Amino acid sequence: MTERYVAAIDQGTTSSRCIVFDSDGTIVTVARREHRQIFPRPGWVEHDAEEIWTNVQVVLRDALADAGVDSDRVAAIGITNQRETTVVWDRATGRPVHNAIVWQDTRTGPLLRRLDEAYGEDWFRSRTGLPLATYFAGPKLRWLLDNVDGLRDRAERGEVLFGTVDSWLIWKLTGRHVTDVTNASRTLLMDLRTLRWDPELLDALEIPAAMLPEIRSSAEIYGTAEGGVLAGTPVASALGDQQAALFGQTCFQPGEGKCTYGTGSFLLLNTGATPVESRHGLLTTVGYRIGAEPPAYALEGAIAVTGSLVQWLRDNLGLISSAPEVEELARTVEDNGGCYIVPAFSGLFAPHWRSDARGVIAGLTGYITKGHLARAVLEASAWQTREVVDAMDADSDVALRRLRVDGGMTENELLMQFLADVLDVPVVRPTITETTCLGAAYAAGLAVGFWPDLATLRRQWREDAQWLPAMDPAHRDRELANWHKAVRRTLDWAD
Ligand code: ADP
Repeated sequence: MTERYVAAIDQGTTSSRCIVFDSDGTIVTVARREHRQIFPRPGWVEHDAEEIWTNVQVVLRDALADAGVDSDRVAAIGITNQRETTVVWDRATGRPVHNAIVWQDTRTGPLLRRLDEAYGEDWFRSRTGLPLATYFAGPKLRWLLDNVDGLRDRAERGEVLFGTVDSWLIWKLTGRHVTDVTNASRTLLMDLRTLRWDPELLDALEIPAAMLPEIRSSAEIYGTAEGGVLAGTPVASALGDQQAALFGQTCFQPGEGKCTYGTGSFLLLNTGATPVESRHGLLTTVGYRIGAEPPAYALEGAIAVTGSLVQWLRDNLGLISSAPEVEELARTVEDNGGCYIVPAFSGLFAPHWRSDARGVIAGLTGYITKGHLARAVLEASAWQTREVVDAMDADSDVALRRLRVDGGMTENELLMQFLADVLDVPVVRPTITETTCLGAAYAAGLAVGFWPDLATLRRQWREDAQWLPAMDPAHRDRELANWHKAVRRTLDWAD
């Protein structure tokens, strides 16, 4: 029998990638291409959605060519994407009406303050699972409607369409105007329980319903690619990047969670069939939805600075010349020597959400060497994870049983052991750490019957390494108390 494949597109913040997977879920080829970051003003971040679409076509073509695979041997295309980034395009010409507004963009701050005064954050949180933050797509869309000439009238006449990046790519590939439920759950416009656009939220944000995509599952056939190298191939999955990683890590049971350690880190915990409202600074979101099955919900904790603290040690302090060297330097000492670094470079994210916080190095004495600083840098990622896990414990009765990890920092064995020690649960790294693409591929493969069921995917997932907790509990408690003390020192700094 001729081998068949699934092609996954990962449309990320800095680049677009395509990975071709075979039926074992093994990577066959990878192609990648960066796009421009556009900074029109301080705090504003934009992408050219046309450029992104061009790059996606190029990486699809290159990945297939490298694999020597024709379109008739590709069973499905899956999509995973940078979340919340907002595109509006002309239905007739297919051209974006403005640059895409990227998730990091903070221009909606004043609008969010007005919404907070008018409705209160709880009104939004109880419906959407989200706090009022500049992060989310709905307010970005509102900004475009208020600021692009004539756009609101055109939106009301149904001439222009809104979508997050999944929706934009599916429309370009298939001509269908749909979005998946995980991406829709990041707009502040969807009711988390009914999984539909909420008319009262649309009213509050003054968004015309005519421009919104239809909300569909994460794994189902949205349409078939109309042209290009994969003409005729079903487009069969879409998941926001962090949700795709949860799926690619096969966290299908309540209590299973993953954390992706890159520049920043994202921990998602599968909480099962009902959404858990957070009282402790986490987001409630849709984890995934397969076809017509009920959705799996997740709690999400975002940490702003983890891998970027290692970069800071390298680029700003010059104590190491490459990120992996941090491990060697940290191993020159036995422990942190009493030193803690809280990297609140631009405030603290989950679970604190304190924009007034700024970073501290606490516990400095004449004894501290660069080795201790390297240790404190690594430990900061683990303690920040611990704070998110503690918030999850406080919010839900679904306890984390073990943590699956991926991302660039998971190469660091010292950090992985320390993580298991401070969380007091096993930490597991899979053989395929491209979990985002893998999740999109898994979901697309499920939708077309390329893989029969979740149990098959589960069996396919392979462990590469595991770290078991080994720290003395009394020692852990003392260190945690010190960490909390250091975090308190960061607060009330910026005005
Ligand atoms: P992103 O997808 O956010 O760009 P990656 O998953 O590629 O991130 O991971 C890169 C990050 O991981 C960088 O911030 C880098 O400092 C950090 N990193 C890479 N290798 C190591 C290592 N061996 N130890 C600690 N940190 C590392």
